[in-house]
Amino acid sequence: MKLDSLCVQAGYEPQNGEPRVLPIMQSTTFVYDSAETMGKLFDLTAEGCFYTRLANPTLNAVAAKIAALEGGVGAMLTASGQAASLISITNICKAGDHVIASAAIYGGTFNLFNKTLRDLGIDFDFVSPNISAEDLQKAFKPNTKAVFVETLTNPSLDVIDIELFANIAHAHHVPLIVDNTFATPINCRPFEWGADIVVHSTSKYMDGHAVSLGGVIVDSGNFDWTQGDYPMLTTPDETYHGTIYTEQFGKAAYITKCCTHLMRDFGAQQSPQNAFLLFLGLDTLALRMERHCSNAQKAAEFLEKHDKVEWVNYPGLESNQYYERAKKYMPHGTCGVISVGIKGGKEGAVRFMEALKLAKIVIHVADARTCVLHPASTTHRQLTDQQLIDAGIAPNMVRLSVGIEDPEDIIADLAQALENV
Ligand SMILES: *Cc1c(COP(=O)(O)O)cnc(C)c1O
Repeated sequence: MKLDSLCVQAGYEPQNGEPRVLPIMQSTTFVYDSAETMGKLFDLTAEGCFYTRLANPTLNAVAAKIAALEGGVGAMLTASGQAASLISITNICKAGDHVIASAAIYGGTFNLFNKTLRDLGIDFDFVSPNISAEDLQKAFKPNTKAVFVETLTNPSLDVIDIELFANIAHAHHVPLIVDNTFATPINCRPFEWGADIVVHSTSKYMDGHAVSLGGVIVDSGNFDWTQGDYPMLTTPDETYHGTIYTEQFGKAAYITKCCTHLMRDFGAQQSPQNAFLLFLGLDTLALRMERHCSNAQKAAEFLEKHDKVEWVNYPGLESNQYYERAKKYMPHGTCGVISVGIKGGKEGAVRFMEALKLAKIVIHVADARTCVLHPASTTHRQLTDQQLIDAGIAPNMVRLSVGIEDPEDIIADLAQALENV
């Protein structure tokens, strides 16, 4: 099936007499008629749900739909995007290991890596999203265990060269993990360009309605863990009676360990209710992404011509430094998010935002309703003007998340607000 059909059809196949729509299995636990059957579940020699922290039929269906959309062998839902990034790394890294990450990643991911995981003994080096092949080669150390990048960054909208990062990571027998939140599998499927693991904050376009916090990890099944240095996957796990993930689960070794080991221990499970809402959101993902992109393209073109606007950053504009790269990786469009510099500095940006009527000021991004955020006075407010510039956040930058309303209404709102600047 094509992606649009998978959005609607994948993940849940009701049998004779079962509900047409995925049920919410709001139960922490599941019944078995013998202790022996349950023992097999604990040993990972039988499949089934026994406790929602480890598995739940509603969550399994949603994970299967997302795995189908990304073209992976398996997926695991998490309570948030942050939990997905955390587990994607800690599934294969421990104290003493090293990770190379793009410097152009979501701020929450940066804090998780640079502070929390560093404090736990995992070392990180952050490299430019535009790093040359030569310099990327040099960033590898003998203890490098993963490379982490974002397809399209929030909020700077850098487009990463996935193939380049994948090729060099593989030359070092290291997997590439890609946060594909902004592009979604509708616009980019990182596995087709060599990525090994994909993570998402499903709180954004996948849910699409700003109702359900969540995350997901998807495994391509393509990385050969036995070629690298990953003893946690290739030697016996004593907490599962000596299971060797690569031997017992083959291509699904990484994602099985995520579900059985990391989710068991960290417990960052998504609730069945949230998973159900995510499932509904996914039905319309392809439709919504098409509209988000066409609306954002129109809004970006309008803004670029406006005399109250200093600059517009949107990879769909020919003037954009990432225009060609975006055409290669996201030929049908990037996403609905635009960053725009309003004339008149920080004050101009704030006056513009406060004059908007249809577009509301919220922290969230990437849902059906058009919204704006001023990074300099909210998410990055602790920084001085110079630090903002160093972080790629201009004081006059507004992050505009274009929704799926009629494009004429969105542009009319932008136009009247710009009159107030
Ligand atoms: C929001 C976001 C996250 C974090 O996701 P939460 O669901 O808020 O925990 C991670 N990566 C990207 C690109 C995001 O936009």
